[in-house]
Amino acid sequence: MILLNGTKLANKIILQIKRKVASIKRRPILAMILVGDDPASSIYVRRKGVFCEKAGIGSKTFMLPVTTSEKKLLAIIGKLNKDKNITAIMVQLPLPKHIDKNKIIDKINPRKDADCLHPLNFGRFAQNGEKYSVVAPATPLGIVKLLEEYKIKIQGKNAVVVGRSNIVGKPMAQFLLNRGATVTVCHRYTKNLARHTRETDILVVAVGKKGLIKADMVKKGAVVVDIGVNRIGNKLYGDVDFPNVSKKASFITPVPGGVGPITIAMLLWNTVQLSQK
Ligand code: NAP
Repeated sequence: MILLNGTKLANKIILQIKRKVASIKRRPILAMILVGDDPASSIYVRRKGVFCEKAGIGSKTFMLPVTTSEKKLLAIIGKLNKDKNITAIMVQLPLPKHIDKNKIIDKINPRKDADCLHPLNFGRFAQNGEKYSVVAPATPLGIVKLLEEYKIKIQGKNAVVVGRSNIVGKPMAQFLLNRGATVTVCHRYTKNLARHTRETDILVVAVGKKGLIKADMVKKGAVVVDIGVNRIGNKLYGDVDFPNVSKKASFITPVPGGVGPITIAMLLWNTVQLSQK
């Protein structure tokens, strides 16, 4: 079994970004918006700020109270859209229930859309892949970079993505499809999940349920990518039963140290891409 080391690749990409930023006249600035005080989201946003610093990218963080109205949030995004100093905008999801996520995403200027959430960017990416859109969804983009780093072939392979969210599952499936895999997407209503996962060469899991994927649900030699983040006490766990599944997998991502850091690196990568356009 080989560990897919996201931290190592993220550090490598951060260095590339740093070199690139040094050659750009105006320092890119990423605006991050967090509504509410969800501890996990606060940690993510703080970590993104630390990565920005490492990469020489500026960051501006808006920590808004959970009571923030939709109107107020739309107004903040409107201001950031017009602000010439802001290169990219990232709204930390999920948002509180009283805010319509789709309205917020639609408001982000597609030229400042750090995580490829806007339908224009997502649509371009879905139709023709990341080469056609300025940015691509950070998490799946990072996973593809990780698979490429370890020379894992995608074309012609069977792939199963568990989870179908707009930010992770769907774009992950699209990436794999664009690269020539035969893709099955599973979700809450999938009957007999194990029947699908057991047959696949590449298994990507993005659900948010600790230990959902057990060793008997994985084919021997499969490549396993665990996107899930489940915080129990001070510890983080993925969706995959790592101690047992790692005995069967050929390659596997750890949690933490797998998909998390590479996601942040790709968010910064997107910020630099946006600063070039
Ligand atoms: P989400 O929007 O809640 O989506 C979860 C998906 O899992 C849904 O599509 C849901 O199906 C599916 N699901 C729920 N229970 C299931 C089950 N028993 N069997 C099969 N599918 C099931 O979450 P998300 O934003 O995609 O994130 C997923 C996980 O990845 C979370 O743990 C999140 O924290 C983590 N994450 C990590 C990173 C990173 O950088 N490491 C980035 C993003 C997200 P339905 O659609 O049918 O409800």
